[in-house]
Amino acid sequence: SIDFKWIRDNKDLVASNIHNRKSGANLELVLQLYDEMLNLQKEVEQLRAERNVVANKMKGKLEPSERQKLIEEGKNLKEGLVSLEENLLKLTDQLQQEAQCIPNTTHPDVPIGGEDCSIIRKMVGSPREFSFPVKDHLELGKQLDIFDFDAAAEVSGSKFYYLKNAAVTLELGLINWTLSEVMKRGFTPLITPEIVRSTVVEKCGFQPRGENTQVYSIEGSDQCLIGTAEIPVGGIHMDSILSESSLPVKYVAYSHCFRTEAGAAGAATRGLYRVHQFSKVEMFIFCRPEESESYHEELIRIEEDLFSSLGLHFKTLDMASADLGAPAYRKFDVEAWMPGLGRYGEISSASNCTDYQSRRLGIRYRPQEPVPSTLKKGKGNLAPTQFVHTLNATACAVPRMIVCLLENYQQEDGSVIIPEPLRPFMGGLDLISPT
Ligand code: AMP
Repeated sequence: SIDFKWIRDNKDLVASNIHNRKSGANLELVLQLYDEMLNLQKEVEQLRAERNVVANKMKGKLEPSERQKLIEEGKNLKEGLVSLEENLLKLTDQLQQEAQCIPNTTHPDVPIGGEDCSIIRKMVGSPREFSFPVKDHLELGKQLDIFDFDAAAEVSGSKFYYLKNAAVTLELGLINWTLSEVMKRGFTPLITPEIVRSTVVEKCGFQPRGENTQVYSIEGSDQCLIGTAEIPVGGIHMDSILSESSLPVKYVAYSHCFRTEAGAAGAATRGLYRVHQFSKVEMFIFCRPEESESYHEELIRIEEDLFSSLGLHFKTLDMASADLGAPAYRKFDVEAWMPGLGRYGEISSASNCTDYQSRRLGIRYRPQEPVPSTLKKGKGNLAPTQFVHTLNATACAVPRMIVCLLENYQQEDGSVIIPEPLRPFMGGLDLISPT
């Protein structure tokens, strides 16, 4: 449930936030629709009350003519009510649709502006030095016979790929290593559905429709392919009240991700960097509101630990306001050095979505006693429920990790060293060599 009253009471703040985040949301329209909805709700209530009055009168002793008059009156009121209720439903739908686009509030430390304004939080390592001309992952992959983009282009289209030989072992090794590392830190593993209802996609803050949608919809159904496991994991506790003692709930989910990549023309699209289907291990936390900032720090620390133990050189960024997307209150990205590309490339993203997703998904918790003095007690002397906060973070986006590992660990002869921590998850393989 979106808090329209709060939006109306904080109109200027919401408007400047929309501006800072370069969001396309139409606040004026939302407020206008909200007013219309409130007026219509009043009319409906009034008509219902009038109908009750008529119904009560009918219970008494009446002259036949009087009864006939009341029957007529009741019939007219009912017809009017049905039509008003239909209008109210349509208006509510339109309001919800427009309001979905309003972005989350923004953490006060987030730099205001576009991508260039993002702030470096941390720098780990330095670019690896090579004594020979470096190859990119496509050239290395060709020599190692571990990808087939040509057959995939015929079978599926551009930006698809087959993984072959050691790349298969590498993908599965990366997934299993990441899962085991994150599970060690107290996260529950999940494998999620990869087709979900469009409504769940919307409630997580993504737009399943429209020209520039990143989401593949399934024709003739109300379902979509997931762009990230964040959606099915966010939905796992939809419309429920979690006990406070169960919080935080921490999941690590493995899934495939499907993205149309509409509007990505011109961006780095070669090879595995930007594809339509990829594997990803994603972390997700449901927690009490007052703890979400510290769990955000925990998530970025886990990412940094994972990437450091693979020996990557990377930087962590506090993302600027225009780069946050709708659901995030604050977002930390990691960009790793990719020697073949000759630049840093984004390998992960950690977002604190505060109550943006939980409001829409209806995920609450009931605080245990003692009830904070600022809260009124709810029904039956229980503390009133509150929305949880949700956070999500990439543990391993496999194709970009493959790009990083191939390009950073290449040797002059085109072979690639497997970093030590992955070897037990790859049947002891320590080197991928040209065939
Ligand atoms: P996001 O959910 O958009 O924050 O993406 C999470 C991570 O997945 C990014 O940091 C990238 O490493 C990776 N990623 C996103 N889109 C693609 C894509 N089209 N192809 C390959 N990897 C991607």
